Formats: sequence, structure tokens, C-alpha cells
Amino acid sequence: MEGRKVIGWAARDQSGHLSPYSFTLRETSPEDVVFKVLYCGMDHTDLHQLRNEIHSTNYPLVPGHEVVGEVVELGSEVKKFRVRDIVGVGCIVGSCGECFSCKSNIEQYCNNRIFTYNGTYKDGRPTQGGFSSAMVVHQKFVVGIPKKLAPKQAAPLHCAGMTAYSPLKQFNRSDKVVNAGILGLGGVGHLGVLIAKAMGHHVTVISSSDKKRVEALEHLGADSFLVSSNSVEMEQAVNSLDYILDTVPTVHPLQSYLSLLNVDGKLIFVGAVPNPMHFDSVDLILGKKTISGSFIGSTEETQEILEFWAEKGLTSMIEVVKMDYANKAFERMERNDVRYRFVLDVASNKMES
Ligand code: NAP
Ligand code: ZN
Repeated sequence: MEGRKVIGWAARDQSGHLSPYSFTLRETSPEDVVFKVLYCGMDHTDLHQLRNEIHSTNYPLVPGHEVVGEVVELGSEVKKFRVRDIVGVGCIVGSCGECFSCKSNIEQYCNNRIFTYNGTYKDGRPTQGGFSSAMVVHQKFVVGIPKKLAPKQAAPLHCAGMTAYSPLKQFNRSDKVVNAGILGLGGVGHLGVLIAKAMGHHVTVISSSDKKRVEALEHLGADSFLVSSNSVEMEQAVNSLDYILDTVPTVHPLQSYLSLLNVDGKLIFVGAVPNPMHFDSVDLILGKKTISGSFIGSTEETQEILEFWAEKGLTSMIEVVKMDYANKAFERMERNDVRYRFVLDVASNKMES
């Protein structure tokens, strides 16, 4: 049986230019949730993928993995949602279910995970993301959006929010003040500031220019702001941070950031830098410092961050744009001209489903 016909916006080649694209969703099974897409956040990873910067893109590519929608149909085995519920989907829509990661509820690290787009589903068809009028997703990878959260606010939490929340949880403690560094104040970075503040951390933003200083301190509530090219400011902050969440998407010199870490401090990479970077082992050895990485979060953690957001009454800074503005929005993202996350108003595009 053929699946539902939908209209998405796809890139056809490495120019990354998006244009309308009709395709068919996969056939539904008893454990599937079918939903109409309302909003979808725009992530820098979408840009890396559209342009084939990670060298794995299959075209046509419909991006989007910060998806919020309204349930229109449920498989017979789906008991946790109802038609018209507001639900969300993040970066993965499948995993093996049997490996250590899957059994430990960290299925984002499963070697057989299926990415929401640019992946291959179990039926051999390419997966396509949330820049589309509707999606079909297995219930295991669908979360419920709390009623207190506006759907457009919830969208960026599914990737950017998770990407900050999951590694920061290890520092969510009440016995001492944690000194946090957020490197790069973009989509992931600004949510990192809000989450770290909500966890009670003393937050320092490290940015490539002075342009976001006032916003960081006054609107996002950061405690301190460093410009990475200002050697005096950087020198004064040496050995002051317990961790740095590194969200920068391009090659950057690590030595100066490692020097900001205190003994036992951690540099946590979440920015997907397309080329290798270098560090000096002595900078780690002499301060017992760690370089680590972190990849989004699990479905369980996604539900957790949504509840955390609603409970703490947090508000992300988003710019809601129409579907036909997507190309322009990616151009602006590339120029570092977004405060701080574009969210596509997918439903207003009147796409047929
Ligand atoms: P974004 O909104 O474009 O923000 C990136 C920030 O990095 C910018 O706002 C800018 O902050 C800083 N920056 C420094 N040099 C830059 C340069 N040459 N070009 C662009 N930005 C530069 O990106 P995002 O959506 O937050 O994503 C950030 C990175 O995380 C991307 O590589 C993305 O692929 C990756 N990511 C990883 C995961 C994961 O699971 N690990 C999940 C989501 C995204 P300042 O102005 O403050 O310098
Ligand atoms: Zn697995």
C-alpha cells in the first residue's frame, strides 16, 4: 500500500538551495504516529548536510529535525498519544533496540540509529525531515509536548536544547557553584546559557565578537562575557571554568579555550567541525583536563527537557519565519545573523497532505 503524499522543501545538490518537492511517506505500521508538521527549527547541522559538508548527503534531501506537529492518525498499538495531541521528534527515528546503548536508553549512540533525514529506514527508503507537511514516526521516537509550552518554543529543544541539556546534566549539582563556559552564542549556545543558568551555574559566554554582549548579559542572564580575540579578557579568565560547551561549527584554535579550564575541567565538543582540529597534550596533562564530545540526547531526555523547560518557565529566543524564507534564513545563519534560532512556520505554507 502506498503511503501518504506530502510536499516538502528539498535540496537537490550541493548548492543546498531548497525548493518544493513532492514525495510519499512510508507506509504506516501499528506502532506509528502520523502528524501534520506545525513548526520545525533550523539547525546549523541542516546547513552542513544541505551543502554535503559532512560528505554523506543523499539528494533530494528534506532537512529538519526539530519538529513539532499535531497528531492526525495513530497505529492500533499506540496508546500514549491521541489524535490532535501536540508531539515532537528530534534527530533520530530508529535504532536497533538491542545493543548496549539502546538497552541503556541512550539510543542516540546506537550504531544502527536511523537519522530523521538523510538516513535509510528499515524498508530501504530514504528518511526525510520536518521541512514537510507531515511525517510518520515510530512511537518510541515521538514525545508529547507539555500543554504549558507553545509548539514553536518547543521545536528548538528537540535538537539544540537537547544538545546542551544532555552533557550539562552531569554538572546539575547543588553542593557547589559550577563555573560554566558557553563557547559560541548561536542556536545551541543560547539554549546552553538558559539551561546552565536554570541549573544554577555561573555562566560565562565566550563569543567571537562584542556584538552579543548586551543580549547575553541582559536578555539571557549570563554572568560574564568574554570576546575570544581579546587577549586581556581571556588572560584574566585563565583557570576559571569547570566546563566549556563548545558549539563553534568551524575550525578554531583550542589552546586558548583549554587554558580557561580549571584543574579537572572539561571541554565538551558539540559543534560538528567538518575538518580536524589540533591540541597540545601538555595543555591537558598539566591541568588534568578532558576533551569530550556529546551527541544530542535520548528520547527519554527529550521528554525530560520539555518538562524542565515548562517547569522553569524558560523562553528561548526564536525568529519564526515562513517556509519560503528558508533559503534566506540559512544564508543569514551562515553569516552569524540570527538571534538565536530560526523556527519555520511549516503549517502556514498551506502544503497539501
Ligand atoms: P549557529 O546557530 O550557527 O551558532 C554557531 C555559533 O558559533 C555562532 O552563533 C557564533 O557565535 C559561533 N561561531 C564562531 N565562529 C563561527 C563561524 N566561523 N561561523 C559560524 N559561527 C561561528 O549553530 P548551531 O545550530 O548552534 O550549531 C552549532 C554547531 O553544533 C554546528 O556545528 C552543529 O552542526 C552542531 N550541532 C551538534 C549537535 C550535537 O548533537 N553534537 C546538535 C546540534 C548541532 P558567536 O557569535 O558567539 O561567536
Ligand atoms: Zn542499538
